Amino acid sequence: MKVATVIAPGELAVAEQAVPSPGLREAVLRVDRVGICGSDLHYLPVAPLGGVIGHEFVGTISEVGAHVSTLGIGDRVCSIPCISCGSCAHCLKGDPMKCLESRLHGSGEEAGMGGFAEYVLVGEAECVKLPDNLDASRAALIEPLTVGLHLVERADIALGEHLVVLGAGPIGLTVVLWARARGVEHILVSDPVAARREIALAMGATGVLDPTSTDIVEACQQHWGCLPEVVIECMGRAGRFDIATGAVARGGRVVLGGMMFEPETVDSMTPFMKGVRVEYVVQYALKHYHHTVEMLAQGRIDPSPMISAVISLAELPEMMETLNKPNDLCKVLVAPHS
Ligand SMILES: [Zn+2]
Ligand SMILES: [Zn+2]
Repeated sequence: MKVATVIAPGELAVAEQAVPSPGLREAVLRVDRVGICGSDLHYLPVAPLGGVIGHEFVGTISEVGAHVSTLGIGDRVCSIPCISCGSCAHCLKGDPMKCLESRLHGSGEEAGMGGFAEYVLVGEAECVKLPDNLDASRAALIEPLTVGLHLVERADIALGEHLVVLGAGPIGLTVVLWARARGVEHILVSDPVAARREIALAMGATGVLDPTSTDIVEACQQHWGCLPEVVIECMGRAGRFDIATGAVARGGRVVLGGMMFEPETVDSMTPFMKGVRVEYVVQYALKHYHHTVEMLAQGRIDPSPMISAVISLAELPEMMETLNKPNDLCKVLVAPHS
């Protein structure tokens, strides 16, 4: 099968690898679509050489292990991006990402576990079947949508409260979509890229601002006459903690969803004096996946404005370089069999 492997720090190239064989409770998925995640861009420079990354995949089951009973060849599924032990307390609760034995997709450390490939291994317990009316491109957004769903859920936004979303990359946009779907009336989105601010408005933001020319606190006062009770951070860049805690109202909540590999120096006096609740949110459970699939299938959320392009595996190495430079692109999907 064709895969995109890491050939040098930060660099991918298409190569041939053997199609993986499933373990007893595993299956092989023919990858129909796989999304490029911001975390893939952050991770590529430090990913293992020869490894295959990518974790936002959906596809069609092509082979099942001997003990698999709930999946069959031809089933279209999405999967939580890990294969867990199946027997610990977290797994039994439907929370496989917290499993200590979990093998993560996209880390590049194990053959067959990367999504930038024609085929990938999945675990039976981590798969959720896709309804027929859900096409592969929208289904490939299930993973990032679920990240956004979890961020919004943890922010506990009450009726009438104000929300600021920092960053209108794919995760920030999914936060906007869910906040709107859950009835949040006031959603202000901050992003320096004009094209992304436009998509944020199309996906339900009630206001947008460019942080390079507008002060966030002043913009909130202008829009609402108050500061937001909730700030959800989806920037993943140094400085995000101070921006979020500086903008939030006294007694408010800050939810940090951006990924950062570098240590960050933060001002802890501001959130201390304001009495801010700060939470880091990353993993989600199977119940979140099921909710996302159901809401997409019923047409109650529409993330399609955030899809910028669908490319082939051969185009992926160059696309990673493009995405690392300033650009107007939002979510780029790969169709490995095209
Ligand atoms: Zn992702
Ligand atoms: Zn487990």
